[in-house]
Amino acid sequence: MLVSLKPKKIAILGAGGMGVCTALELAQRGYNVDLYEEHHLPLRKASYANEGKVHVGFIYAMDKSFHTAYQMLVGAVHFTEYLKRWVEIKPEEMISTPFYYLVHKGSLLTAQALNVHYQRCCEVFDQLSGGGKMKYLGLFDSLQATLLPKSKIEEIGNPEYIEDIFETTEYAVDPRYIAEKLTEALALNPNINLIASTKVESVSKVGSYLRVHAVQGDTKLTEDYTDVINSTWNGLLEIDRTMGIEPVGTWSHRYKFGNKILVPLKRQDLPSTTMVLGPFGDTVNFGDRGAFMSWYPIGRTGWSEAYRPPDWDSMYSPEERMEVFQGSFEELKKRVPALDKLKFDPESVDPVGGDILALGNIDVDKNESRLHERFEVGIRSFGNYHSVDTGKYTIIPYLAMKMADRIEGKV
Ligand SMILES: Cc1cc2nc3c(=O)[nH]c(=O)nc-3n(C[C@H](O)[C@H](O)[C@H](O)COP(=O)(O)OP(=O)(O)OC[C@H]3O[C@@H](n4cnc5c(N)ncnc54)[C@H](O)[C@@H]3O)c2cc1C
Repeated sequence: MLVSLKPKKIAILGAGGMGVCTALELAQRGYNVDLYEEHHLPLRKASYANEGKVHVGFIYAMDKSFHTAYQMLVGAVHFTEYLKRWVEIKPEEMISTPFYYLVHKGSLLTAQALNVHYQRCCEVFDQLSGGGKMKYLGLFDSLQATLLPKSKIEEIGNPEYIEDIFETTEYAVDPRYIAEKLTEALALNPNINLIASTKVESVSKVGSYLRVHAVQGDTKLTEDYTDVINSTWNGLLEIDRTMGIEPVGTWSHRYKFGNKILVPLKRQDLPSTTMVLGPFGDTVNFGDRGAFMSWYPIGRTGWSEAYRPPDWDSMYSPEERMEVFQGSFEELKKRVPALDKLKFDPESVDPVGGDILALGNIDVDKNESRLHERFEVGIRSFGNYHSVDTGKYTIIPYLAMKMADRIEGKV
């Protein structure tokens, strides 16, 4: 039984990956937390629908400052170690097969330029992991990205579309497995009070307190706190604004489908692939836990530059969702021939989607797009009000620890 010893009264807004990991860490450090969530269940939005790739920076080759790759590598080396503070996980039960990087025709960078970037990521990983002291996903001492001979392309991709292939040791973890574990831990923790089906509308300053204004059905709720952490992602900017806080630059919200096919797979049934560099797609083989796939030109269905995006999750009928899945699947099949032999019933398809908030409002097919960067993310603190833009699932456990340190006054 955990006992609260600390005098602070803390509200966390949003029970996604960030909100839940932060709540569990603060509870472990002896704080009581109220966790507000507008959905009736925690962890059902981006932290459920995403691909789960624990990025090691490969995809961020367009950010020449290397800041984004570095940020991802820091997140990646801490990901499993920190997650294990809150839940019992077996890395081998949740990881995908390793990713191949398929250099698509029309890529924004050549294989040669990508190779230079990939090797730098591998070197920086060695430095950050302390020569293997910190393991990637609790399993791997080093990173690799190897350019395959052209004669090997056909084994993985269709040479009509794919010009080169790298074999890498980057992996994804199944976000649904992690969501399940975190949800169980949340339910068992007496220091965390989950206030579900409750939408936070605003936060205001009242003397030395922060007042959270929320709505639960027809009932308005207000409660005062010493500290408020806004980790609502799709709701982040709208709530920040009520505190007079603006984003650091232009931004966009995108809705992207993360289709799942929930049938058990053997390793040889499907390669895990990321097609680079531009508006392409991914396939992921999660073994017994099925497949993930997305094709950006069809699956990126929503774009909004409003403070809060439309409620895209409720806007598509099941038939429209299946259409997006089918269109994406057909395009992916042309590039990854193994998909042609994949056997599954339509009932095993789960075409969910999620919001992506990012700085920048030019899409990924353009060189100048800021969506190729994700380093201006993380925690912004304004007194005892903290706003967290996770940017990527990869850095959630790392940011949750940082956030708890900040509440304790350590940083
Ligand atoms: C299709 C897709 C693929 C992706 N692939 C990857 C990947 O491979 N690797 C990677 O690192 N990242 C990936 N991402 C990004 C990643 O999913 C997000 O960065 C991360 O999950 C965001 O976590 P979060 O806790 O900040 O937000 P969320 O998980 O979205 O949680 C925010 C919570 O706040 C709640 N909320 C919102 N507004 C309010 C309000 N007003 N009041 C109360 N509650 C509110 C929401 O309901 C939600 O539960 C992907 C995203 C998508 C959509």
